[in-house]
Amino acid sequence: MHLSRFPRVFLAHLPTPLEKLDRLSHELGVEIWIKRDDCTGLSTGGNKTRKLEFLMAEAQAEGADLVITQGATQSNHARQTAAFAAKLGMGCHLLLEDRTGSNKANYRQNGNVLLDHLHGATTETRPGGADMAAEMEAVAAQFRAAGRKVYVIPGGGSNATGALGYVNCAFELVSQANDRGLVIDQIVTATGSAGTQAGLITGLKAINARIPLLGIGVRAPREKQEENVFALAQKTAEKLGCAGVVAREDVLANSDYVGAGYGIPREDTLEAIRMFAELEGILLDPVYSAKGAAGLIDLCRKGQFKGQRVVFLHTGGSAALFGYDDVLLAGRA
Ligand SMILES: *Cc1c(COP(=O)(O)O)cnc(C)c1O
Repeated sequence: MHLSRFPRVFLAHLPTPLEKLDRLSHELGVEIWIKRDDCTGLSTGGNKTRKLEFLMAEAQAEGADLVITQGATQSNHARQTAAFAAKLGMGCHLLLEDRTGSNKANYRQNGNVLLDHLHGATTETRPGGADMAAEMEAVAAQFRAAGRKVYVIPGGGSNATGALGYVNCAFELVSQANDRGLVIDQIVTATGSAGTQAGLITGLKAINARIPLLGIGVRAPREKQEENVFALAQKTAEKLGCAGVVAREDVLANSDYVGAGYGIPREDTLEAIRMFAELEGILLDPVYSAKGAAGLIDLCRKGQFKGQRVVFLHTGGSAALFGYDDVLLAGRA
């Protein structure tokens, strides 16, 4: 297993810190650590930076002068792609899907959307429920007809190339734990387009770490989420030359914290944001990391992790907070 064999643009701030959350641990009665992938760099950081190191290297190798990707209006992936493209001197065109239907000015223009534009990306919007992969191909065809060399990145950067970034994160995390004698009993993270969980489980299995990984879903029902992650993990393992290393039962998701839908926070999402902010000085986001943390908090309270050492992988996303000021400030004078 040798990741140096794959082209990569080294741009992320790695290794990200692994820190103990003393006050949150005390509050929940479970020893909780955090892997700070909110600190990867690229325009406020987040998990897409690791994936983009491999994806953008592939784009460069193909001679691309324009990358196209898609996401929700407040997509962190779109923003990190825009920043990476700026750094490499490539164009970036984003298709933003209106998944929440919110017409709040800050949701539509602030947060990640503001940053997309600051990085010089061009954007188009699509209604919620559009076939975004097909929309991207159609737009890519137009740019190609106009003479551009286009590289299309799937939503969330989640294909076998992008997932390599999280194979690497699994190695990094286990070696940090080894170096300080920390036995990790459980890893918990938010899971969406599946690349993060698929890469992590592939890496963990490839080194036989024997650490269970739980993905807290932000959109799809559990069965569907697990199927998506498993399918991508299989492709990732194949790419790495260790086909079959991930079994179906290694892929565990829990979609009990989604609420009304993608990008719509519920009360426990907001509580998770407040707890991390007030107890640890750490910013979560209302779409992904706080839904993951809400699952972590609830499962700790229910005794599922009793006596264990749990690592929460913080996937970033705080820029989206500025698109959600209305719900976050509701009830405050
Ligand atoms: C994209 C994203 C996730 C989910 O990661 P996937 O690889 O898409 O499953 C989690 N947290 C944040 C902040 C994200 O932007």
